[in-house]
Amino acid sequence: MTEGALLRVAIDAPLRRLFDYRPPPGVSADAIAPGSRVRVPFGARQLIGLLVERGEESSVPASRLRSANAVLDAEPLLDETLLGLLRWAAAYYHYPIGEVIAAALPKSLRAGAALHEPETRWRMTPEGVAAAAAAALRRAPVQRQLLERLAAAGAGGLGAAELEACVPSWRGPLRGLLRHGFITALERHTTVPGSAGDAGDVLVRNAAFPPMTPEQEQAVAAVTAQFGRFGTFLLQGITGSGKTEVYLRLVEGVLARGRQALVLVPEIGLTPQLVARFRDRFAAPLTVLHSGLSDRERLDAWRAGRAGVARVLIGTRSAVFAALPALGLIVIDEEHDASFKQQEGGFRYSARDLAIVRAQAAAVPIVLGSATPSLESLQNVASGRFMRLSLPRRTAQAQPPRVVLIDLRTETTRHGLSGSALEAIDRHLAQGGQVLVFINRRGYAPTLVCTACGWIAPCMHCDARLIVHQAARQLRCHHCGAETPLPEHCTQCGYTVKPVGQGTERLEETLQRLFPAAPLVRLDRDAVRRQGDLETVMARVASGEARILVGTQMVTKGHHFPDLTLVVVVNGDQGLFSTDFRAAERLAQTIVQVGGRAGRGTRAGEVLIQTEYPEHPLLGSLLQGGYEGFAQAMLAERAAAQWPPFSHLALLRASGTAPDAALAFLHEVRHLAHPPPGVKLRGPAPAAMVRRAGRFRAQLLVESDQRGALHRFLDTWLPKVEAAPSARRVRWALDVDPLELC
Ligand code: ADP
Ligand code: ZN
Ligand code: ZN
Repeated sequence: MTEGALLRVAIDAPLRRLFDYRPPPGVSADAIAPGSRVRVPFGARQLIGLLVERGEESSVPASRLRSANAVLDAEPLLDETLLGLLRWAAAYYHYPIGEVIAAALPKSLRAGAALHEPETRWRMTPEGVAAAAAAALRRAPVQRQLLERLAAAGAGGLGAAELEACVPSWRGPLRGLLRHGFITALERHTTVPGSAGDAGDVLVRNAAFPPMTPEQEQAVAAVTAQFGRFGTFLLQGITGSGKTEVYLRLVEGVLARGRQALVLVPEIGLTPQLVARFRDRFAAPLTVLHSGLSDRERLDAWRAGRAGVARVLIGTRSAVFAALPALGLIVIDEEHDASFKQQEGGFRYSARDLAIVRAQAAAVPIVLGSATPSLESLQNVASGRFMRLSLPRRTAQAQPPRVVLIDLRTETTRHGLSGSALEAIDRHLAQGGQVLVFINRRGYAPTLVCTACGWIAPCMHCDARLIVHQAARQLRCHHCGAETPLPEHCTQCGYTVKPVGQGTERLEETLQRLFPAAPLVRLDRDAVRRQGDLETVMARVASGEARILVGTQMVTKGHHFPDLTLVVVVNGDQGLFSTDFRAAERLAQTIVQVGGRAGRGTRAGEVLIQTEYPEHPLLGSLLQGGYEGFAQAMLAERAAAQWPPFSHLALLRASGTAPDAALAFLHEVRHLAHPPPGVKLRGPAPAAMVRRAGRFRAQLLVESDQRGALHRFLDTWLPKVEAAPSARRVRWALDVDPLELC
């Protein structure tokens, strides 16, 4: 050990730096690997930090340098690649490294839980063997499944990580088996290396899958040729074109090479159907990681990945930080989905972009799948950074759906549905088709209006109107969550009030009245509050029992609608005139995603888009050129206006409880900025919706056509922003590569 060798430690605190410590007494700094947790004194407290690097010299005088108290890990929690990714993220998103690391780790690990549990293993008792042989527990399928797994494991039994990887939600059922006396627990204080997944194991459980189409074969071959090396692929194909089948084949290849696969999906895309499809295909252990897990489950899942026991990890956004020592492939399904971007709090990262950085660091290929790729990704294809693989609509299927615009200026509507739409719904139902009615708004109606004085029910905390929720007899704000009872009368003049406009709830009511014979289900966040609700609704659609489906964005995600032949987009105008330059892209993606659900079986599909602006060039390019044509038109527009992907943005958002605090802060920090040539500041300006949840909001945009220049400027400017006197009166956050500008 060099005299004075130091530990540079990341601590979960809003400070953009590492903290220097001497190693604990009697421990050599060299003996502690970066990526390990250490317990350190911090002020008067003891905190758990992560060793990021070792150093020789400190700016802290030797007399004031403190010693770490203890090293928590015998081997590093995070390997070099993952630690490198987190350091990269801290630099790129200009966010304190300690907080980035905290965001990446399960809470229990941050609190000091052991990397490997002093392992408890469970194994069968003679009673259990008898029960398994007698096929007992038929009514408790998970217990039964556990028993079978434990029977197969023999005398060595199974540990938590292994159980986690093959049986979801196993802890409760396992306790049941212990109570029955069918199994017994053994304590063992060493870890068992992951046994499953070595090359040569039986990996594929269910071999009854279809031969690939030539295009699928081509896609699989292209990515397979890149195994062991970095490369980014854009897999483009509409829903039902066989993208998931390509992922499954690729994962099979990864497993056969003894490596792990990471599959990232949107919040709403992580359905039991999708997970079941992977579990059904592979015998190899699979783990799911998402925001709905308890701390305990999250820890189990994380450990299973870290120990190499889980061979496939399917997760939402934050799973991009999962420790996977044998990573061989990353897949991102629906790469255009906004939920891959963390849009809350301080650390606003893009899981898609970080996944690409991770793939590069780990030297593995990454596949981005979508029917409607982001313009960023399409531009990356054009510039040669990504390689495009296309899956055409399968030949066994009908032709692409016929898309028709319905001019709402000339047609009268009944509760938001035009005569043509109603006629088409009637016709498709009569022919045995299923009908999907899409509207981007939940609740009964977007406004409650007084019929005498014109008063409109406002949110008291936001510059927004309250949404009528008829079934709950409430007015709700979709921005701050405020709720009040639905008033009978105008609060201004006492006259009668009425709901105006359409939401899913009202469409449900209208359609039920007009088509009483057709069973209807509604799919939105109010109707589907729990995962169980979603499964029930989807089962009714998939079985064909439900004939009409009314829903929001939720309907666009990978569900199966066997007889769906008609899609009605109730309001095709939302987004056409937004001030946000990405609104049009999102509208087109939604229309194509929703419309793509039509005609999935052998029947031809029809898509009706109701609009008051049938001549709008955006709808025109979409209708004539499809998503591809639209995207080319949009990219040309973005290039001309110098918007992303032809420029790079960072948005400084601020909010305060006093009306002017945010703007005053942004003015102050703008004056502190000395942007070099090529970097422009725009604003500050009030947010499109100024008041939200009682806070007044404003923003300042930083723009450059060179990423490097933008980040160098942010590096010098942010310390001044932090130190600005007015910063104490506001909350602020920097959003690098913002998805939303209002
Ligand atoms: P996507 O992920 O693009 O929506 P999927 O992979 O889910 O597409 O495929 C849609 C349906 O077509 C699934 O039921 C799948 O089993 C089936 N499928 C996929 N590839 C093939 C193929 N090569 N031959 C026959 N059926 C296929
Ligand atoms: Zn009134
Ligand atoms: Zn509100």
